Order: sequence, then structure tokens, then C-alpha cells
Amino acid sequence: MSNSAHQAMLTKYAEAIVKVGLNVRAGQRLIISLMATRGVPLQFAPLVREVAKAAYGVGAKYVEVIWGDEEMLRLRAQYAPKDSFDEYPTYMVDAIMQMINNGDALLSISGADPDLLGGLDPEVVGMMQKKQLTAASSVGEKVTTNAINWCVVAAAGEAWAKKVFPKLSPEKAQAELWRAIFETTRIDQPDPIAAWQKHIDAMKARAQILQARQFDALHYKAEGTDFTLGLPNGHRWISAQSLAQNGVIFTANMPTEEVFTLPDRNRADGVVSATFPLSYGGTLIENFQVTFENGRITNVTAKQGEAALKKLVDTDEGSHRLGEVALVPASSPIAQRGHLFYNTLFDENASCHLAIGRAYRFTLTGGEELNDEEFSAAGGNVSLNHVDFMIGSPKMDIDGIRKDGKREPVMRNGEWAL
Ligand code: ZN
Ligand code: ZN
Repeated sequence: MSNSAHQAMLTKYAEAIVKVGLNVRAGQRLIISLMATRGVPLQFAPLVREVAKAAYGVGAKYVEVIWGDEEMLRLRAQYAPKDSFDEYPTYMVDAIMQMINNGDALLSISGADPDLLGGLDPEVVGMMQKKQLTAASSVGEKVTTNAINWCVVAAAGEAWAKKVFPKLSPEKAQAELWRAIFETTRIDQPDPIAAWQKHIDAMKARAQILQARQFDALHYKAEGTDFTLGLPNGHRWISAQSLAQNGVIFTANMPTEEVFTLPDRNRADGVVSATFPLSYGGTLIENFQVTFENGRITNVTAKQGEAALKKLVDTDEGSHRLGEVALVPASSPIAQRGHLFYNTLFDENASCHLAIGRAYRFTLTGGEELNDEEFSAAGGNVSLNHVDFMIGSPKMDIDGIRKDGKREPVMRNGEWAL
């Protein structure tokens, strides 16, 4: 793609992010950041600037960016004294919280190096991640209660592109990853905004069907998986769009192919096998199985990365339990690409998945008003983590189980059966 053609695609992408993703309102402010790498990597400046233009185009009052440098994180993990990882400047969280408390919009641009902290002392990496999660928990809470219109999108970072397409030259890999992003976010279609509207309507219809069924549990069956997961009273099936507490309807993820809801933190039993590797904290966890009893993880095994998986589960009590159950057909356009993205935003939209850790308050009717204890009592999970792992495949069958024990096929061979 020529430079000017790429620029034109970036412009269309930014317009969709602002109009469909965030749905920025006239007079709103917008803050762009990426908590995980303490700021948006400078290499994403071309996209950030297009987003700013598009935001001002719809009447945004002010656009702020928190820039970061991935390399600084790695340097710290490598060279800083071992007893120094309690340091965590709060200005970044404060800036984001100020905007959130003012009802402004929040955009996160993912696409940084997935192996940034790979090969480094796992103790140090673990300490840094926990500190980061703790420090940013106020932002996490606002996001999981949809306090404001927020959105996560991706940009084709150099290192990420090389990981996704290792056989291509760095330039070709980056171009190919941009192509994948534009394709899966419908930016390559003649009218991306109209294409999104159609997609959103179809997803909404699917969520409404599931909502009307009021299933009490789901039963998953596939090779290496025999698993029953309870759904609490008041669970809400969510698809692409949500209504934020500031009154704005927004689309939190681009791309998005999932319909998801709240699992009961105390009702998960059996074994699930992951069908995709999980990239977590710079480590690739592969061929793993998770065993549950009464909602709690009692055992994990992995052919590769087992220590990292155990560390994730041991983060806190909530990391022993589930916070999200999502259904994605095996024919999802992201699955059809046939490769891993090493990025949750894409990989979770390729397959049915579960999330270890924190549940989204908005997946429970009235959940936004509950404190942690009340949310837990209603079946919701509270944790520092929220880590999706993929369990779907073209061989998976899922039944919905109603309160009276009657079963109904929800998915057959990885496709919708309702
Ligand atoms: Zn999900
Ligand atoms: Zn998730």
C-alpha cells in the first residue's frame, strides 16, 4: 500500500474510532493513553493525530495524549534496584481519573511489543505488573462500570507485527498487520460506518435471543473440555454496544465479534482446554488445561508456560475464579484469518473464551451500583486481573441449561445453534 493510501485508511480508521467506537460528543474532551506501557508508544503518533483530527471534527473540546516509551519499561526491569519496584508515579492515573470524573472519553491504543518484558526476571516482571494493576485499579473500576464512553483499538506496532508475521520483512510484516487491522475492523469496506451499524445490529439481535432464554448454566463439550458454568440471576448478555453512565452509547472494542455475560463466581465445574496459546506478561502459555470446582480453579497444567499461568492464578483470590463468559462463532472473520495475533483484542474475538479474574459490573443488571461485597454476593468476581483465554473450536458444542434442567443447543460445531 502506498504511503498516501495508508494515510487515507488511517483517516477512515480514526473516523470510525471517533464516531462508532467512542462516539465522541460535541463539547466532550478525549484522553488517549495505554496504561500497560505507561503511555502511548510514539510510533503510534500518525494514528493518534488522525484520531485527534476526527475528534475535533465532531466537536471535541480538547484532546490529550499521554505518550510513553516501551523501552523505558524494559530498562527499568533490567537495571533498577530489586527493592525499587514499589515506586509508581501516580500522575498518569490522576490525569486519566480527572478526565473520567469530568465525563470525558477514554481511548486506549494497544499494539505495543507483546514480548516487551520477555526473558526478564519473572519476579521483577511480576512485581511491576502487580504494582501497575494496583495503581491503575481506579481507572479499571471506572472502565468496568462504563462510567464514560471508552474504546480499545489497535495500531500495528513494529515488534508486534514481527511476532504475528515472523517470516516477513519488518516493513512487510507491519503492512500486513495494518491490513489485518483494517480488514477486521471493516475499514476496508466502502462505507465502514454503515458496515459497523449492520454488524452492531446483528450482534444485538444475538444478545437479545440469549437474554430471552434466561439460562441458568452453560455446558461446554469438546476434546479435552467438559465444563459446566453457572450464570447468576440478573446476568446481562452484552454485545458490541453499551450505554455509558455519562449517557453516551459507545462500542468498547474494535474489532468485536463476541456476545458475553457474567459467570457465577461460585459455579464452575469440570475441565476446560485452551484452544489457542495465551500471551501473558511477555510469556506464551500453550496447551493448557484449567480445572474448576465450585467456581474455583483447583489445578492448571500447561505444556509450556505453566509457571506463568500459576503466577497469574495466584495473583489474588479473584484470579482463581472467572469474570467473563463470551461466545464467538468459529467462523468469526478473525478466526478465519487462521493465525494468532498475540493480542487479546483480536484473539478473544476469534473464539469462545473465558476470563480469569475481574467481572464487568455492567454484565449484571444494576451491577454498577453495587460495592465489591454486594457484587460478589450476586455472583460477580472481583480481582486485579482480567485475562481472557480461548476455549472455542469448530468441534465445540454448547448447551444452555434452564432452571428446570431443560437443555437447548446454543452452539453446535462451533457455530450458533439457537
Ligand atoms: Zn471477551
Ligand atoms: Zn475479556
